[in-house]
Amino acid sequence: MFTSARLKLTAWYLAIIMFISLSFSLFIYQILSMEIYRFARTQRYRIDRRYDEILSPPPFDIELINEAKHRLIMTLITINSSILAISGTVGYFLAGRTLDPIQQMVEEQNRFISDSSHELRTPLTALKSSLEVNLRDKKLTLVEAKKLMSENIEDVNHLQLLSDNLLKLTQYQSSNSSQIFEKITLDSIITSALAKVQPLAKSKRQIIKYTKNNSLIFGDKNSLIELFVILLDNAIKYSHNKGNIIINIESKSKQLLVSIQDNGVGISPADLPHIFDRFYRSDTSRAKTDISGFGLGLSIAKKIVDNHHGTIKVASQLGHGSVFTVAFQPAKLN
Ligand code: ADP
Repeated sequence: MFTSARLKLTAWYLAIIMFISLSFSLFIYQILSMEIYRFARTQRYRIDRRYDEILSPPPFDIELINEAKHRLIMTLITINSSILAISGTVGYFLAGRTLDPIQQMVEEQNRFISDSSHELRTPLTALKSSLEVNLRDKKLTLVEAKKLMSENIEDVNHLQLLSDNLLKLTQYQSSNSSQIFEKITLDSIITSALAKVQPLAKSKRQIIKYTKNNSLIFGDKNSLIELFVILLDNAIKYSHNKGNIIINIESKSKQLLVSIQDNGVGISPADLPHIFDRFYRSDTSRAKTDISGFGLGLSIAKKIVDNHHGTIKVASQLGHGSVFTVAFQPAKLN
């Protein structure tokens, strides 16, 4: 698909360049032909005057003029062929450079669609077979049917959550997402995020330590809350009951560093390079059915950080815990 588009684009480049080049050549040919005739006429006029008294003048040398015109045509053809060859090569190269980012974007989109359909198909197939099997069961009682329906609703909720997360990922990915950038205190963001995750932390009897910090950053409040909800939610999910989570804010090398540290299960060195990839979950997370997730949280978090021109890093030791650190540029006070 992209090879034919590249060839078409090259053909367009060539058509435009050759149209300009041939128009100029025609113009040059017309001007120079007129100049040759004018030169011949002037020469003849001078010779006429010299031969006037003695003999009749020598004939007008039309062959010499035709030869000059022929040579002019040949020179213009050579120049135009060279332009055609050079612009063909350069045009093909430039067409490749123009189409390269578009090709990458289309490939990324195709990967996203196939990954998403794969993730959606598994729970949908399970839901469909459970419904089919129970529909064929003639002895199904009302109590059993109700139990089945409530299980199915759980599956549907799971699917809904997955599609919501996919939607969020595409929203943060698109350049025209509806984010409002303003000066905000880190404290207002962390406090809102904490309010959302506290019930889960409480249910696991975990303690989240946070010292208020009023540093200002320039960002979109809602997406930043989302970012810290994802990181805190993971810290809670992947920590044991009664675990400790510490939120620390410090400024270092003209950057504001927000770190979220847990003393939970940690991440293996093999998983570390992949955790920000879409749909990536470590084998231990996949195996533990009580830890819910789709492997989309950290890729959404990464997109949010990228939109704020920040960086996100992780340091972790398996069995001992993890520290996720987000670096922002502080907002200027005036
Ligand atoms: P999810 O939590 O839904 O699986 P994420 O994208 O948020 O997806 O995380 C990807 C993977 O990174 C998780 O499956 C888990 O293996 C690992 N991970 C993320 N945060 C932590 C953490 N705080 N401690 C241990 N592992 C983590």
